Amino acid sequence: MEWEAVIGLEVHVQLATKSKIFSGAATTFGAEPNTQACAVDLAMPGMLPVMNEEAVRMAVMFGLAIGAEINTRSVFDRKNYFYPDLPKGYQISQLDHPTVKQGKLDIQLENGEKKTINITRAHLEEDAGKSLHEDFHGMTGIDLNRAGTPLLEIVSEPELRSAKEAVAYLKKLHSIVTYLGISDGDMSQGSMRCDCNVSVRPKGQKEFGVRTEIKNVNSFRFVEKAIQGEIERQIDLIEGGLKVEQETRLYDADDDDTRPMRSKEFANDYRYFPDPDLLPIEIDDAYIEAIRSKLPELPEQKLARFCSEYGLSDYDAGVLVSSRAQADYFEVATRIVGDAKLTANWVMGELAKRLNQNSLDISQSPVPAEGLGKLLLRLKDNTINGKAAKDVLEAMWNGEGEADEIIEKKGLKQVSDTGAIEAIVDEVLANNAAQVEQYKAADEAKRGKLISFLVGQAIKASKGKANPQQVKAILAQKLS
Ligand code: ADP
Ligand code: MG
Repeated sequence: MEWEAVIGLEVHVQLATKSKIFSGAATTFGAEPNTQACAVDLAMPGMLPVMNEEAVRMAVMFGLAIGAEINTRSVFDRKNYFYPDLPKGYQISQLDHPTVKQGKLDIQLENGEKKTINITRAHLEEDAGKSLHEDFHGMTGIDLNRAGTPLLEIVSEPELRSAKEAVAYLKKLHSIVTYLGISDGDMSQGSMRCDCNVSVRPKGQKEFGVRTEIKNVNSFRFVEKAIQGEIERQIDLIEGGLKVEQETRLYDADDDDTRPMRSKEFANDYRYFPDPDLLPIEIDDAYIEAIRSKLPELPEQKLARFCSEYGLSDYDAGVLVSSRAQADYFEVATRIVGDAKLTANWVMGELAKRLNQNSLDISQSPVPAEGLGKLLLRLKDNTINGKAAKDVLEAMWNGEGEADEIIEKKGLKQVSDTGAIEAIVDEVLANNAAQVEQYKAADEAKRGKLISFLVGQAIKASKGKANPQQVKAILAQKLS
């Protein structure tokens, strides 16, 4: 039997507002526990929430970016449940009237085709606090710094069909929210977390199978592993004559496995009702249009522009725009170099290699965009050759200074003086008389190889500094 997976994601994106969604407390990550929780976040009696308009503006930006419908009237509801990190006893969320509904985004499949994924809704809500189980012996600490942090929960239709598609979707969402600047997207700090709903069905069957939900997965890699593992677990169950139970599961990255958290029988009844302390959000078309007119360039628009403006291939442009920071880096550098293809090759090649090796994001690169631009300019204007450029980059990476300083200090200037190169070529020809004899008797193919060998010898004799094109031209001329 052939099986097909059905996956829908609920993604929580932490919005990059300075203060919380219903209070004035700061949202900065990593502060001492309970130093960023005010009376509202602590749920002191009589405290009233006040809506942070910035969160609404960000939700609208997102909605416009995914071509969604923006509700001009949205309502906050109380989602009631008990947990120690939720002192109010309810979370403020949006149930029937979310700010954003019915959008879509395109993902690229492995075979290069595009697939459109529909987004059911995106609603605003507040985050809960955090239980600290490991910090106090025999006790649990409660940190309410995160309580009230604004979240945008983005819910997809069950249209994803594999773990890889789910990751492609999540990466696309990540790039949209970071391009928009509405979230820092830092998954290691919980700025983007994902609940994965997974079911399987025999290929060709229309009805969905029973689904499970894996809670709070916080990296692209874990999403792929957790979903893949869950698909296999469900298929094994059914093929073994058992049934999939509708339940919530937890992913354990250490074991690379999921385990049950709660089953449907114990599922919460949240007794949602409109929050009487908050007015509905009412916005008008002028408000929405004002936001639309200020939307930044999005990944797909940037990709199209990189192809047309810089003449880059779809592939190169696609890699460069995969993160806004990388795209910006490329643009700053290429403006200095005046050669987009050369710049793209170095950003995606030598620079990316070093960043990967050191697990650094391009925003943390020890060589800034201007620095790489100035280096590549020296390659482009023939001051140095490709080999020397790599050495200079290495030195710049190690903090030895700017490109021009390093070229000077290390004496890496390319020799382009015809007289000097002729002298080197003469010496090489004299020292390789046997190859020269072979050359005279050889056919075209063999000649090519001998020339390459002799060019190599000449470059070596110049300590890597001779201009390779010139060496080759002079050699060819002398040999003929
Ligand atoms: P709930 O309100 O119980 O969380 P929803 O209907 O809002 O359920 O769906 C939550 C998520 O689960 C959505 O992303 C949706 O696409 C996905 N989903 C719904 N049914 C299935 C299914 N049978 N298999 C996989 N995913 C599903
Ligand atoms: Mg759910």
